[in-house]
Amino acid sequence: MLETIYNTSVYKNLGLNKNIMHSYLFFSSDKELNNIIAMSFAKTLICEKHTGNDNCKFCKQFEAKTHPDITILNQDSIKVEDISKIINKLNTLPISADKKVFVILNADTINEIAQNKLLKSLEEPNSHNIFIMTTTKTDKILNTVMSRLNKIFVPLLNHDDKKIIATDLKKNGIDITNYINKDFNLTEIMNFTNNANYKTIIEDINNIFQNLNTTADIPNVVNSIKSNEKTTFFTYLQDILLSCIKEDYNKYEKNLIYTINLKFPKKALLNSLPLIEDAYKKQISNVNFFYILDNLLFNILKEKFLCK
Ligand SMILES: [Zn+2]
Repeated sequence: MLETIYNTSVYKNLGLNKNIMHSYLFFSSDKELNNIIAMSFAKTLICEKHTGNDNCKFCKQFEAKTHPDITILNQDSIKVEDISKIINKLNTLPISADKKVFVILNADTINEIAQNKLLKSLEEPNSHNIFIMTTTKTDKILNTVMSRLNKIFVPLLNHDDKKIIATDLKKNGIDITNYINKDFNLTEIMNFTNNANYKTIIEDINNIFQNLNTTADIPNVVNSIKSNEKTTFFTYLQDILLSCIKEDYNKYEKNLIYTINLKFPKKALLNSLPLIEDAYKKQISNVNFFYILDNLLFNILKEKFLCK
């Protein structure tokens, strides 16, 4: 858990400790942030002094996942059985906190039948129960369910907020110093810091665009690739070209974006995006990476020459 999240402007501005409602849906495109906010808020609800960071008995139980009044669902697919387990707990009184708290992270993973089952409980709220859910995909939640939830949009962490949580993350062995000044959201930061291959991928992409001038360069460029995560490679390539098109110098290294923009007209980059999407799909279906990349680079160069 991030204790410092409570000090960020994003968390403070949500005004969560005013009136406690019976249901919440935290949503934004930043999955990690939605979930941290939801869990932190849940922690304040069961905390003795409702601060969530006083390390009281209940805070400790929350961290140890042993607090009797909190139920957390966080799984790839939430089925009727999972919702039934929650529903079975709704009619009992809380054991040590004032409320029983049910947290469903990434609620878009609840299948439709299960959502309908959950709907009944949301329609007949009980003052002892609080539902807290999160999602990045509000369109995956039934309108009927949506209408029962207090929807709270979570704004992106700003630069100061990132600085605040950086100290906390460092204690957990995650160093985000390099990303504070970039336009990454928290999910992207977590992905990159957890991904040891991120640096290699960026270096590979940098090498490609430094050395790719004619089709004769393709074999050498392809052979110089060091990264192991081939599908992620195409995801980054696509995102980097998007940053070039948007002239966004904040997300990746300025030099990388500058080099690509200098060598490739925007129209060629734009036309390359669907080509990379194709390459990504081929990679998923296990076509040889070097063959895909060879083909892709040839087509990207073709786009470049067509644009001249
Ligand atoms: Zn506490």
